[in-house]
Amino acid sequence: MKKQFFLERECIHRETAPEGDFYNGVFVVQAIQNLGSEAAMKFASRMSPFFWTDAPRVHVWLCRECAAELQLSNAPRAVKQSGRLR
Ligand SMILES: [Zn+2]
Repeated sequence: MKKQFFLERECIHRETAPEGDFYNGVFVVQAIQNLGSEAAMKFASRMSPFFWTDAPRVHVWLCRECAAELQLSNAPRAVKQSGRLR
């Protein structure tokens, strides 16, 4: 069996924000790209960096605000169930 591992990334509010979820890296990258380059740069500076080619293996923790900004809260498929990583 091939061992699968995931990378965890997070927005800078992880320490202070009360609530958030893990999101599929692919969705996060897509959502960031949809922001347009200037907003995308700003947003990217709020997250711990990862190579976008790693996105399928990345789980990104985002607070509610960041998720709302990326409109990920409207995309239930983007949410990773933390108990079901395989
Ligand atoms: Zn945040």
